[in-house]
Amino acid sequence: MKLIPIIGLEIHTQLNTKSKMFCSCRNSFDIETPNKNICEICLGHPGTLPVANEKAIQYTLKAGLALNCKIHYQSKFDRKNYFYPDLPKGYQISQYDLPLCYDGYLDIEGDRIGIIRIHLEEDTAKLLHTQDKTASLIDFNRSGSPLMELVTHPDLTSAKQTKEFCQEIQRIFRYLGISTANMEKGQMRCEANISLQEYGKYKKENGKITAIDNYILNPKIELKNINSFKAIEHAIEYEINRQTKILKEGKKLIQETRGWDDSKGITFHQREKESANDYRYFPEPDIPPLNISKQMVEKLRAEIGELPIEKRKRFIQEYKFSQTNAKILSNDKATAAFTEAVLSEFKGWLETQEELQTVEDEDQYLEKINKKIAKLVGGWITSELFKLMKQNNTTIEKIKITPENFAELLTLIYTRKVNSTTAQLVLKEMFESGKDPSHIIDEKDLKQIDNEEDIGETVEKVIAKCQEQVKQYKEGKENVLMYLVGQVMKESKGKANPEKAQKILKNKLRS
Ligand code: ZN
Ligand code: MN
Repeated sequence: MKLIPIIGLEIHTQLNTKSKMFCSCRNSFDIETPNKNICEICLGHPGTLPVANEKAIQYTLKAGLALNCKIHYQSKFDRKNYFYPDLPKGYQISQYDLPLCYDGYLDIEGDRIGIIRIHLEEDTAKLLHTQDKTASLIDFNRSGSPLMELVTHPDLTSAKQTKEFCQEIQRIFRYLGISTANMEKGQMRCEANISLQEYGKYKKENGKITAIDNYILNPKIELKNINSFKAIEHAIEYEINRQTKILKEGKKLIQETRGWDDSKGITFHQREKESANDYRYFPEPDIPPLNISKQMVEKLRAEIGELPIEKRKRFIQEYKFSQTNAKILSNDKATAAFTEAVLSEFKGWLETQEELQTVEDEDQYLEKINKKIAKLVGGWITSELFKLMKQNNTTIEKIKITPENFAELLTLIYTRKVNSTTAQLVLKEMFESGKDPSHIIDEKDLKQIDNEEDIGETVEKVIAKCQEQVKQYKEGKENVLMYLVGQVMKESKGKANPEKAQKILKNKLRS
């Protein structure tokens, strides 16, 4: 029995508009004081009238266009009726049969994942439960915030692919600037539905799974409270294993909603799925139908710009970055912009070099050294600069280092005016003060020592000090040499040219 995982997603995303979906309350996600940003409208008082937020509509359209969706130019809002304490009106304003966007897709490494719809609705209030569990409190700050819901076809087939899909969606939404989409903060909430079906015994048409002959489809399990990308992958993996085990034992699964317990790493039964929800949808009578103009859609389309997948591809093709570095450097717009600015500065400098002017075919020459540059630039950003950012808990938008100064440091490394130990010191200083590297090198007397006489003196000192290691080296333990080079570097406070130090050491040890 070969079982195939069939996975679909529902992703709710909070849009970062200034005001809420249907009122002028501030749409803010990090408020400590409960029930601060509220009004009669988002509290659902009778007699109030909602007015749709145009920016939220535009953001949703942008998401749809970026995900290859079609647009319902004639759209509307509907009431989704259900009772829950976090929903004061007794209904949620949502969209039913005319979602703003429909029938799109996103390609994940060659697999096309269909998107059924993207619609706009309002978020609910937040329920908080007291420690002793005797009472629940309601915070309406989130009530009425614009919430975008994306529903995929059941086209995903593994835990890893599902996680990658969600990550790509997050990147796209962030590129578009429509949401911070932080999963840990609940700004992006993913729910998965998953079933396992026997290979060859079902077919998929228009995103619908149907049984062939008298095969009976296994039920779909819904997964909730997934709060991180890691949790998406783990929860789905867990479910695939759990369902496989039950089915292979010849037992039956029930249609249910399961929660993910992150600390235990298991899913648990929450409730049996009610037979077809009756939300008694009907058109929202208080909001006029939406007429989306072609002109506005085209304007939004033009604003989209390069998306993360395209940028990643270009970073590989144009700049010769490795797959891994291209992914890291294009992960967010700010890092990508910084990288491109550094590259442009660096190449600008390179073009002024004599080395280049004597080259006959400049393009060919650049092509040849592009890889070398990519390695240098990519390496120093992703390892050294990111390390400093992480240590200081900051982001690339906030750092004091300009791309010009960063490129200048790289040229110093490229031309071997500083070795990498010194360069790390200089970078740290640049990070702290924002000064340019040549200033720092002068100020801190960090210029590389290239003078062979000076290095020779230091080498003599090290030889005198490390008699034991010198003896070992002379007895044939060649790798002791690197230790001695290290000592020369230490003695010169990292300033000696390491290649020259090694050469001089070898010479002196031979004699
Ligand atoms: Zn309000
Ligand atoms: Mn929803």
